Amino acid sequence: MYKKTKEGVIIGRIGYGKDLLSELNEIVKQEKINLGKVEAIGALQKATIAYYHQDSQNYELITFNQHLEIVSLIGNVSLKDNTPFVHAHITLGDNKGNLLGGHLSSESIVFACEFLIIPFTGPSLERKLDQQTGLPLWDI
Ligand code: ZN
Repeated sequence: MYKKTKEGVIIGRIGYGKDLLSELNEIVKQEKINLGKVEAIGALQKATIAYYHQDSQNYELITFNQHLEIVSLIGNVSLKDNTPFVHAHITLGDNKGNLLGGHLSSESIVFACEFLIIPFTGPSLERKLDQQTGLPLWDI
């Protein structure tokens, strides 16, 4: 559920029970946004984030089976395997006001979420495997 401003900014909300990252990825694919900025606030029914172990170069998934506020989500859109791809990090708040956070992964289920996607016109940015970090980083 979203609308587009005159400037081309996509503003909307992700529905109850939806997978936050999958929905954001669907929208950028549908709108053919190759480059942009993403932000969101709201709440999750449960969250999954990934922590990247720099020594072993692998992601560890961390699941929080609890209700959490999306204090802030910030991310970008670029191309990965020639497809629009959202990379987002999320800060979550618990019922004591403590913060948790990391790299947003699928299986983060929305309670309510308001988001903005700001597209940029410009050169496309493609992700390529970076040998040093083992991550698919921007090929600039
Ligand atoms: Zn990340």
